[in-house]
Order: sequence, then C-alpha cells, then structure tokens
Amino acid sequence: MHHDAASQTDAPAEPVTIPAPDPAVLYDLLVVGGGPAGLNAALYASRKGLKVGLLARHRGGQVTDTYYIDNYLGLDNVAGAELAERFAAHLDRYGVPFLEDAKIVGYEPSDGVHQVTLSSGETFRGRTLIIATGTNYRALGIPGERAFGGLGVSYCVTCDAPLFRNKDVFVAGGGNAAVEAALDLAKIARSVTLVHRSQLRADAILVDLLYANPKITVHLRTRILEVLGDDFMSGLRVEDLESGGQRTLQGVGLFVEIGRIPNSRYFRSHLDLNEYGEIIVSDRMETNIPGVFAAGDVTNFPYKQIVVAASQGAIAALAANDYIYQKKPDENRNRKAAEYRLDALLNSVESV
Ligand SMILES: Cc1cc2nc3c(=O)[nH]c(=O)nc-3n(C[C@H](O)[C@H](O)[C@H](O)COP(=O)(O)OP(=O)(O)OC[C@H]3O[C@@H](n4cnc5c(N)ncnc54)[C@H](O)[C@@H]3O)c2cc1C
Repeated sequence: MHHDAASQTDAPAEPVTIPAPDPAVLYDLLVVGGGPAGLNAALYASRKGLKVGLLARHRGGQVTDTYYIDNYLGLDNVAGAELAERFAAHLDRYGVPFLEDAKIVGYEPSDGVHQVTLSSGETFRGRTLIIATGTNYRALGIPGERAFGGLGVSYCVTCDAPLFRNKDVFVAGGGNAAVEAALDLAKIARSVTLVHRSQLRADAILVDLLYANPKITVHLRTRILEVLGDDFMSGLRVEDLESGGQRTLQGVGLFVEIGRIPNSRYFRSHLDLNEYGEIIVSDRMETNIPGVFAAGDVTNFPYKQIVVAASQGAIAALAANDYIYQKKPDENRNRKAAEYRLDALLNSVESV
C-alpha cells in the first residue's frame, strides 16, 4: 500500500510512502482494526510520539458500508466512503505503518509483550495492544443461504443494492438496520418485502416511513425457512408463525439485516467477554490483561456509533500511553472533586 505521508510524529511536510509494520520491531502500540476506533487510536498514539503499527483487514471498517452519515459532528450528509477516506488520509499524514488485508488469527501475551499472528503466518509484537476489530454481519443459518451467497443473498445494501434495480427483493430483520435497508432498497428495487419473525424493534420514525412507502410490504411473525432457486435465487420458503402454514414468496434478492457479531473470537481464550461475545472494558478501555485495550463496536459499550468508536479509540490510545509511561490514574480524583464541591457550597452559604 502506498500513500503519501509525513513523519510519524510531526504534521505533514514532505510526502513519504506509508510502510507496512515490521515484524522485527517491538512496537510501543499495535492497533488491530482500521475502522474509526482503530484509526483514531493510531492517530492519537502517533501524536503522543509512540511507535505505532496498524494492522487491519479493511481500511475504513463498517463506515464504508454506509451510504450517507448524518450524525458525525461537523460533517453532515457525508458519504460513508468519503468519511472513511478522510479518516484514513488524516492518519496517513503521520506516516503510521499500516498493513491492510491483514487478518489476525491468533493472539498470545507473554512477559509484557503482546504478539498477534496473521493468517499469512507473520507475527507482530507490541508492548501494548488495542483491539478495534468491530463487528461482522450475522447470518440466518438456513438452507440455501450459503449456496446463494452472491447469487441473490447479500449482507450489504450499500454494496449490492444497485444490482437489484427494478427487481423484487426481501429484507430479513426487524431492527433499525433492517428498516433502513428496506427504505434504501425501495429507491432502487421494484418491490421490497420485509420479513421478520416477531415485531419491529426499529425507531418509530423509521417504522412510519416503512409503512408509508407504497413499494414496501411487511410480513411480521413470519420465519424464513429456506432460500430457493436454481442458478440464482428465485424466492423464499416462509412459515407464518400464527397459523403454522408455509408458502413460497417470489423474489431474486435477500438482504440479511439481523444484527452483528463482535470480531473477538481470536482473543476469547485470553480476554473476558460478555454473553454477546463483546470484550469487557473499563471506562479507560482496559481489558482484563494489563497493556491490552479494546475500543469501538467490539466492546461491551452499548452505543455502536462512529463518533463513539472514534472517541473510544482516542481514550484507549491515551490510556496505552499512560500505561507505557506508568502513569497511574488519579485515584483521589473523585475525593478531591467532592471536597471541592463541599468547599464551594460552604463558601456560598457563608456569603449569603
Ligand atoms: C449499514 C450501516 C450503517 C451505519 N450507519 C451509521 C451512521 O449513520 N452513523 C453512525 O454513527 N454509525 C453508523 N453505523 C455504525 C458504525 O459504522 C460503527 O459503529 C463503527 O464503524 C464502528 O467502528 P469500529 O472501528 O469499532 O469497527 P468497524 O468499523 O467494524 O471496523 C473494524 C475494523 O477491524 C478490522 N478487522 C476485523 N476483524 C479483523 C481481524 N481478525 N484482523 C484484522 N482486522 C480485523 C476490519 O477490517 C475493520 O478495519 C452503521 C453501520 C452499518 C453496518
């Protein structure tokens, strides 16, 4: 990968080429993940003067799967691909070594050194590690789903919707992502049928838009049993959960939007995860292993948003910097704040 960049700690001057991280180097910080959490962690750590290496399967993360983003402060109505590119270009200016198409498949802590292994067999080492691997789509796990993957079945509306212009398509799911997918698809497809096994959980404003759209049909309490087709998908076999009856619905596309799975599996033998597989972090993004931090959608923090992931990346980087320089959090901070408030209160009472 070649991008123009300046030195790692100073802002841009002369363009240089972005190198890949060096397996022979012990980095101060290794960051895994190239979404908003990982990119911002690398930016903050680099600006602190740490020797940082960044490894990621895909530059930009989920942000590149989003048509338009309207809730990132200061950048309204920005295309997902453009926002991801701006994030990455900002980091490039610091020359942080970055390896793309790098899939981590193993992690080993030993003696204060954190080692990750790629699917290629290469290993990289850091004195600290930030895991910012985000989430991946959840599959339905039904017959035909895998066979018609790329032949009608899709997990990315942004990527694949244009292939279904004037076609009849389905959306599986009942949350915000599913309803947003149906609304986006209705702009392109001939018809959209949303199928969900229980009631909708999406925000009321989205549900109103869904029911107001004449191109969209909604089947609730309906379970998808099988994806049907020959060379290409041609329909779904579904079960009405009220009556128990089964029937076939015709359509050539199925967009699966039933939630996401945290990318934590390669860390689970060492790190504490919650029941959803999310990495449990403190308010300083610390995991149960000293020197290992996690940030963004892969953590147990509930609000999965770009601005949240980016800010958690910053916190993790600053906490990693404190860890390296052995700065202790100020444990007396809460007590001092309470004393300060008491003083202020006493002063105000005296002055009455
Ligand atoms: C369709 C859609 C629309 C959305 N719309 C919005 C919106 O409008 N506003 C908003 O704020 N948020 C939105 N979100 C959510 C937002 O995109 C996420 O909250 C955010 O991207 C999370 O950032 P992250 O860095 O934690 O993880 P991700 O963006 O998921 O990035 C994870 C990174 O880790 C890498 N990775 C994963 N596994 C490995 C591995 N084993 N080895 C190496 N690298 C790995 C990935 O390649 C990627 O680079 C949307 C999400 C989707 C899917």
